[in-house]
Amino acid sequence: MTDLARRAAELDAADPLAEHVDRFVRGGDVVAYLDGNSLGRPLRSLPQRYGDFIERDWGERLIRSWDEQWMRRPFDLGDRIGALVGAGPGQVFVGDSTTVLLYKLARAAVDAQAERGRTEIVIDEDNFPSDRFIVEGIAAERGCTIRWIEADPAGGVSLEQVEEAVGERTALVLLSHVAYRSGFVADVAGITRAAHDAGALVLWDLCHSAGVIPVGLDEHGVDLAVGCSYKYLNGGPGAPAFGYVRSDLHERLAQPIQGWMGAADVFAMGPRFEPAAGLGRFLSGTPPVLATVALEAMVELVESVGIDAVRAKSIALTDFAEAALAEHVLPLGARLASPPAGPHRGSHLTVTHPSFREVNARLWERGVIGDFRAPDGIRIGLSPLSTTFAEVDVGVAALGEELRRALR
Ligand SMILES: *Cc1c(COP(=O)(O)O)cnc(C)c1O
Repeated sequence: MTDLARRAAELDAADPLAEHVDRFVRGGDVVAYLDGNSLGRPLRSLPQRYGDFIERDWGERLIRSWDEQWMRRPFDLGDRIGALVGAGPGQVFVGDSTTVLLYKLARAAVDAQAERGRTEIVIDEDNFPSDRFIVEGIAAERGCTIRWIEADPAGGVSLEQVEEAVGERTALVLLSHVAYRSGFVADVAGITRAAHDAGALVLWDLCHSAGVIPVGLDEHGVDLAVGCSYKYLNGGPGAPAFGYVRSDLHERLAQPIQGWMGAADVFAMGPRFEPAAGLGRFLSGTPPVLATVALEAMVELVESVGIDAVRAKSIALTDFAEAALAEHVLPLGARLASPPAGPHRGSHLTVTHPSFREVNARLWERGVIGDFRAPDGIRIGLSPLSTTFAEVDVGVAALGEELRRALR
């Protein structure tokens, strides 16, 4: 047994969240799953949950379930996800995909700001493709200009860069709380304040924070946010996104995909669109109820454990992964492309090497699942409720072995 393997065993033995690992489906040929930040593992309770849903909610109650619970579901589940990201009730809803919600909320913000002569959108070059592509589309549609921030790919957007970029023409600042590539955690408090000082609205993408890092949306006066539920919230492939709109903005904003579910009186079937008075106006069509069953199960688990405890294990796992990389991988010429330990580090690490495309393919064959990000990065995602320290040790050691082999 190596020193690191021994340390992993000790850390697992002392881990207060260790009991939860077995709540997840584990099996097949996977020896280390290091990609829970891309697709969280399913909970073992899901066959039962889906069975009950199909038998009772859908099978017996049939369409009556809409009145009994499903119409409220985007908001009820939204409130619970909201609590995990620091939003009080009545400000978070579930539905659509992250990409679609980015469009709806960014367009709503840009339109509201156009009335004040603000036509510039600030975003960084290294943001997730959807975020950038949506901004490009809105800019073309509404005659806006884009102010691109060039962020350090191994870090992220700094407060100073945002202060530099915003001004009297800025309509919206759209950034990721945790950078999908480096795992850098942006300064939500400082950047939101800087944007507000310049008169801009801010939209935070919480895809890599929801369910793993506290965000403090209300505390920091954030305007808008979106996030995804199939990463650290284990909602399953294609599970719906969530959107946050601060209470006092509900009446000021109008989103562009006007559907019957966002109308003031959904079943009035009126001749013209009249938006719902509150958060409801941000819905468009029928909510994806079936796809929220797995999500709800995970939200329940995160609630029971507490987001602070989840973050504490995330930090411990990330620190351990860094030590394992330093032992097995960095000496072979790979580079860590993530922030150092501390408040600016999220729940994944990226390590780069020109051989990683082929190395990652070999790892997948061995049941060591991280993910490759072009051009040369492997992301090691640490999902606190389902990942063990031993798994990280095994996975990173295998990464070292395969890199060594590729270099021969
Ligand atoms: C995963 C991710 C998305 C995904 O958007 P979908 O519409 O769910 O495909 C968007 N933004 C960021 C930052 C992400 O990490």
